[in-house]
Amino acid sequence: MKVAVVGSGQLARMMALSAWPMGIQFSYLVQQGDSLDPITSLGDVIYDEDYPEAEALYKALGEPDVITVEKEAVDTDRLKALQAFCPVYPDPKMLETCRHRGLEKSWVNEQGVDVAPYRRTGNRQEILAALEEIGYPAILKTCTGGYDGYGQWRIKSADDAAALEEDVCNLDCVLEGFVTFKREVSMIAVRNAEGESRFYPLTENLHRDGTLLTSKAPAPNLTAELQQQAEEIANKLLAASNYVGILAIEFFVTDLDGKEHLVVNEMAPRVHNSGHWTQLGCISSQFNNHVRAITGLPLGNTQAMKITGMVNLLGVEMDNSVLVNSDQQLHGYGKSLRPGRKMGHINLVADSYEDLDAQINATLAKVYPEG
Ligand code: AMP
Repeated sequence: MKVAVVGSGQLARMMALSAWPMGIQFSYLVQQGDSLDPITSLGDVIYDEDYPEAEALYKALGEPDVITVEKEAVDTDRLKALQAFCPVYPDPKMLETCRHRGLEKSWVNEQGVDVAPYRRTGNRQEILAALEEIGYPAILKTCTGGYDGYGQWRIKSADDAAALEEDVCNLDCVLEGFVTFKREVSMIAVRNAEGESRFYPLTENLHRDGTLLTSKAPAPNLTAELQQQAEEIANKLLAASNYVGILAIEFFVTDLDGKEHLVVNEMAPRVHNSGHWTQLGCISSQFNNHVRAITGLPLGNTQAMKITGMVNLLGVEMDNSVLVNSDQQLHGYGKSLRPGRKMGHINLVADSYEDLDAQINATLAKVYPEG
């Protein structure tokens, strides 16, 4: 069995590492200038620019059984051309929906699922009109290209709105109302081509400057009702897009008439940082289940075996000395150091949520001594 992955980052790396024991081979479709460090020695690397014809590209990739992606920013026309030779999962149409915040929100809404109140904007007048309707505070987000807090502007007042630069105002954006949330959680769901789905327990996520810092799973105080609400939403979105592979859905947990209510923040049509804990906490990690789903293998167990946590290593060198105890697991991505760059993560298991918090705090203190 051969899988070709579009991209060469840590998600491609961890996909390959989890599927190698199952005898699955990998190749990678990259662009000139992409960093290849995470996938060194993990399979053939093919440069997109070298093969303008889809058939030649398919052959160069090793005639894979299936093609998948590790990121949203991909050339979907190219993927559609490759569909003539093998399945591409998730479907390129879903990638197009998810990589554009405006399309994504309207599609999620069409499925009867709540998103934050929003308006599409493309100039200052439209932003001001949207603020009239939605009110302050609000967040302006670029429809494409923004990630991990980039391409976002918080607007707390009319002064903030007036201070927005003209270039920013003219971008294709969504203006989103600020959601008062109790916490942020995410659902990692998997579906195969036969339509069978499985769900990991909801994960609680903490972000710093718009980037994920820690995850806890199953989310503390997770009720059966909230898990069910998330699974129902995931089921709707998976079925409506005839999805194959892992889909990550990020939610705000809000209060609606005294009950926990999920509002979709965004989706990622791929394995996701908030699912990294599954490498230690579950029999089948999200990476393993993604490969199982796209290659037609039976789906693996998604139950959490223990209380699990994850701490991201952002802009810090990898070093085993940061591990707080011998049960912790360090994952490095093989990348060179840059400020804020995702360099790796630590997975840890705990006997109780008190123990989990203590371990996460001790790990954070060691990894980020300056706070
Ligand atoms: P995003 O890139 O859209 O996932 O945003 C990054 C982070 O900013 C989220 O995880 C939230 O912590 C925060 N955020 C984004 N949008 C909103 C919103 N509409 N209301 C409140 N917080 C938000």
